[in-house]
Amino acid sequence: MRAQRQNYKKGWCPGVRRPMETGDGQIVRIRPRGGCLRATDLTEIASLSRLHGNGLIDLTRRANVQMRGLTPESFPALVSELDRLGLADETEAAEAARNVMVNPLAGLDPAEVMDVRPLARAVEEMLSRKVGGFRFSGKFGFVVDGGGRFSLDDERADIRIRAVGSAERPRVAIGIDGAEGVLWLRLLEPGQVLSAVERLIHAFVALTEEVGDVRMVDVPGQVVLAIVRAVERFGEPAGALEFARTSTQKTLGAIVLDDGPVVVGLAAPFGRVEAEDLLAVAERAIAVGASEFRVSPWRSFYIPVPDEQAAQHLSDYARSHGFLLNADEPLLSIDACPGSPACASSTVDTRAAARALAPLLGQIGCVSAHVSGCNKGCARSKPADLVLIGEGEQFRVVRNGTINGPTVGYLPPDNIQNLVALARVF
Ligand code: SF4
Repeated sequence: MRAQRQNYKKGWCPGVRRPMETGDGQIVRIRPRGGCLRATDLTEIASLSRLHGNGLIDLTRRANVQMRGLTPESFPALVSELDRLGLADETEAAEAARNVMVNPLAGLDPAEVMDVRPLARAVEEMLSRKVGGFRFSGKFGFVVDGGGRFSLDDERADIRIRAVGSAERPRVAIGIDGAEGVLWLRLLEPGQVLSAVERLIHAFVALTEEVGDVRMVDVPGQVVLAIVRAVERFGEPAGALEFARTSTQKTLGAIVLDDGPVVVGLAAPFGRVEAEDLLAVAERAIAVGASEFRVSPWRSFYIPVPDEQAAQHLSDYARSHGFLLNADEPLLSIDACPGSPACASSTVDTRAAARALAPLLGQIGCVSAHVSGCNKGCARSKPADLVLIGEGEQFRVVRNGTINGPTVGYLPPDNIQNLVALARVF
């Protein structure tokens, strides 16, 4: 029998200590510290997923890892295992506050301005220990970006920490994502960043406490000015500095970073990995000398390996386990949420529709697409060339926009091919 349909509140995010009900049971979300998991953590996560969940694991758009299909009976045992592995925070509030995205090549990429991992860890520690008592919106997030070839300039954040300048003279800009885009506030010496960010957080919380579940983008202009004033004693105005936001293609497969470090980039279609495949690839990564998996917000792992031979071997092995190693794969141009039956808010199979859509994208003149099971739009907030939104038993179609865009037509899920003919009309 189909699970009862529910609409989940926007802003609600699961954690390890805060499971969320979905159509295929409960999910828990693990937030990797510093954007990195030990390879051995992943073998454990895969085994625990088979033991306590339904064997399905997701990589999320916030560079987290989700385990699906838990039950109220299996959940407590899973939490104690994740505690044992050090993958959970002490409290639900600390876990919710520690929402920090880190450049997946941090400390490896010769093109980065600085290795931001120590800074990211310090911010996480502060969020967990000092600020964890404050309740941010479940989606309130931080980006800590050292620059380089895979910069996070395109990823959304409430508070943005970005290395600028040169490796010889690194500085750090802090900013907020407001209604008008990124507002860079101050340009700091690296040693000033933690204090300034803590001050920024306290100002935000104090100024928005009565409003409750808000994000920076919701904050009215006069509150933004007060937040800006709260950090003006730190460093110098960032407005005096110009730097280019960088957006480079996020390559996959065996990657040699300027004749130096070698990494393997593996994408999971729609971010979904089966536990058996993850276990096999993590074990093989360990066997070729890898020790960590970096998690990226484009639903990929980046795995540092000893040399090109190991990279090639691991790439071939991962491909045979369903990972994608070519960034030009049409499937990677489509964001699709789990949809039905995994999510009880939907009645359409989003991923089947996305697989049918992938080979058609070029024919209908689209580079990006978003297939959403309902009007919550979990998988993507940015506009896409084509948006399909589950509505009852069919898809509502939007062109060049978000799920909130105007409807240009409707499409039954079993007739995705018809998009090619309908594209002339849309
Ligand atoms: S957008 Fe998708 S995952 Fe999110 S609630 Fe709707 S059906 Fe579920």
